[in-house]
Amino acid sequence: GSSALRAANDIQQPNDLDSWWLPFTANKSFKTNPRMVSRAKDMYYYTPEGKPVIDGTSGLWCCNAGHNRDEIVSAIQTQAQELDFAPGFQYGHPLAFTAASRIAQLAPADLDHVFFCNSGSEAADTALKIALAYWNVKGQGQKTRLIGRERGYHGVGFGGITVGGIVNNRKFFGSLLAGADHLPHTYNREHQAYSKGEPEWGAHLADDLERIVALHDASTIAAVIVEPMAGSTGALPPPKGYLKRLREICDKHDILLVFDEVITGFGRLGYAFAAERYGVVPDMITFAKAVNSGTVPMGGVICRKHIYDAFMSGPDNVVELFHGYTYSGHPLACAATIATLDIYQRENLFERTRAIEARWADAMMSLKGLPNVVDIRTLGLVGAVDLAPNEHGPGKRGYAAIEKGFHDYGLMLRTAMDTIAVAPPLIAEDKHIDEIIDKLGRLIRDVA
Ligand code: PLP
Repeated sequence: GSSALRAANDIQQPNDLDSWWLPFTANKSFKTNPRMVSRAKDMYYYTPEGKPVIDGTSGLWCCNAGHNRDEIVSAIQTQAQELDFAPGFQYGHPLAFTAASRIAQLAPADLDHVFFCNSGSEAADTALKIALAYWNVKGQGQKTRLIGRERGYHGVGFGGITVGGIVNNRKFFGSLLAGADHLPHTYNREHQAYSKGEPEWGAHLADDLERIVALHDASTIAAVIVEPMAGSTGALPPPKGYLKRLREICDKHDILLVFDEVITGFGRLGYAFAAERYGVVPDMITFAKAVNSGTVPMGGVICRKHIYDAFMSGPDNVVELFHGYTYSGHPLACAATIATLDIYQRENLFERTRAIEARWADAMMSLKGLPNVVDIRTLGLVGAVDLAPNEHGPGKRGYAAIEKGFHDYGLMLRTAMDTIAVAPPLIAEDKHIDEIIDKLGRLIRDVA
């Protein structure tokens, strides 16, 4: 039965660690001392030996409902028996429509149309392509410039790395797309250190968009894309008023605004989308990850009515947008999405996150004063601790935290160089938060 199978899985170790080339990982060190998990339930992973590892990162910012929830598991199982695959090109299946409708209902204002893909990277590239095509169908095909932001992350496609602002993700990959530009990032330690939530300082940094418009002219600019909270470069909350200011400048110059909500979507900041938290309506929202709690690859772009409508004014029987993926709206991903959104709703996980945000912020700030801690940031159920680099160079202390955290403390973390980021599943109870903070505190002392 399944428990016998589970026991077998617990002791199963692969003989060959060589064949898999791990993504965004130091493969050589990993393979000398692997950090391996083979099972998960709710707030915990388990190693093949059966040792629990508390999930401080929702996997990779995705398992917001906690792991292996029975309802989601059985929805996937049932769907696999019923309909394994259905093409989305020229054919449809009911669950894709239902999933799109459920997602659209969660999005603010007239963000009503959902284009499905399979990851955050595809979502970013899809949004950028829709922006370019939008201006084409509107007869303004000269609006091609894409504006991102320093320290931004929009996945690893050519569009995403072009507007992204992480040098290592860009410098090895040639000249990227032509004509992009970048806003400055919004982090300033001197003015913002140890802020809980949105820092007071920094809204004026949105005005740099005026400088970029003055340089290139709005007639050449298609879209601005930003993460409401920059996640991958160490959780940088937006300064108070910053996103509103960006929206105003985009409106003034007829530039589309895209929020990349791959991390912030589905409750991470206490709302279905950060757009709602900030009272700002972007023209498109990208999502992935927590849409189905990380269970089946799924991403997408939610578009406002005017975007969708612009494409629908041509003749019938003609493809309106030459874009899509074999697995757009995959039945298993859609089934998992509907079951996940049911859980978010029934357990009020977004509201719950709002309710525990203050306690979480206090818990994170209790780490202030530990060795080498130079800043702490919090937002929603996200926290980040900046550590000073050690004598071996930038990133080494962060890497030691990952290794020691896993092997010595049974704690899963994310790091960006020497910044430790934590973002537990939204089902985390007080005892889990205490366990994470306690382990993190001891770990920070260990890597001193
Ligand atoms: N956009 C943002 C804001 C992200 O945080 C990520 C991944 O962390 C992505 C895009 C890329 O998503 P994926 O890894 O699913 O391609």
